[in-house]
Amino acid sequence: MPSSPIKIGIVGVGKIVRDQHLPALAANPDYRLVAAASRHAEVDGIANYPSIAAMLDAIPELDAVSLCMPPQVRADAARVALEAGKHVFLEKPPGATVSEVEHLAELAAAKGVSLFASWHSRYAPAVEAARTFLASTRLKSAGINWKEDVRRWHPGQQWIWEPGGFGVFDPGINALSIATHILPRMFVTAATLDFPENRDAPIAAQIAFRTLDGVAVTAEFDWRQTGPQSWEITADTDAGSMLLSGGGSQLAVDGMIVDRQPEAEYPMLYRRFAEVVRAGVSDVDLSPLKHVADAFMLGKRRAVERFDD
Ligand code: NAP
Repeated sequence: MPSSPIKIGIVGVGKIVRDQHLPALAANPDYRLVAAASRHAEVDGIANYPSIAAMLDAIPELDAVSLCMPPQVRADAARVALEAGKHVFLEKPPGATVSEVEHLAELAAAKGVSLFASWHSRYAPAVEAARTFLASTRLKSAGINWKEDVRRWHPGQQWIWEPGGFGVFDPGINALSIATHILPRMFVTAATLDFPENRDAPIAAQIAFRTLDGVAVTAEFDWRQTGPQSWEITADTDAGSMLLSGGGSQLAVDGMIVDRQPEAEYPMLYRRFAEVVRAGVSDVDLSPLKHVADAFMLGKRRAVERFDD
């Protein structure tokens, strides 16, 4: 891959494309955004197509695509792109099932192109500092507390409530993408999933994990939190109590802030994608997705009050 800008097309132009992908691409000289494919939306100043197939047909010189549609339809689009020899950036979660994404990784390797399963929360500014802190301590217990207001963050989105839309695991998997990066390897031992009686995806979940050393890790996900929002991971260690808060943006130990920097998740994701493309490798860690799958597999289902937008 030459060092000239990566010619990229973006697919599924919705909230996250406008909030994050377009500004991150515009600010990064490693890329030239050439085209967009979306059924109902367009991006100003570039070529627009109604589908990924039409975009790839029209612009064979595209090097890469970013797939930003809901997870239920991401793998089909990724297969089309990989078959056409394009590098692929997958929004999170990388797919609706573990096995379809494993296949995508194999296909990318067979085609000699890069696949990037992006986990934006892993690039939150204090996550590396938390990982470094935990690597030098003995963990006694940990907790994940990820509670937000679905009406505020997902107004009118229906796909999140459909099978494969993940429900509260759509934000919850962000927490798991951090937890799997900073905590020791762990496994789901029990879960309870709360499904509104009129929906096909959970609005809340409580998960118990255990590390290989027998340390308990708990996760509480809830989409019904109004007022202040909670995106926190706590850890009790022999070197003090750690609090990673603000979705990974601030680290405190025993109440003292030790790391807080401005958020730059999507600029860092695109820096990483350019790195893997230029190095001719893939970056596909499925551990957060596997925990979600395990929680669905082991989880006890509880019906709760109906949810209306
Ligand atoms: P969105 O706005 O609801 O959807 C993105 C676009 O995908 C839609 O505008 C739509 O464009 C297309 N789309 C929707 N349903 C589709 C379908 N059934 N088949 C094909 N295309 C479809 O969602 P979003 O909030 O941007 O989220 C997209 C992905 O990014 C999700 O996986 C989410 O977890 C992730 N993400 C979201 C956020 C956030 O804050 N929203 C943050 C980080 C990551 P057309 O109708 O024009 O095709």
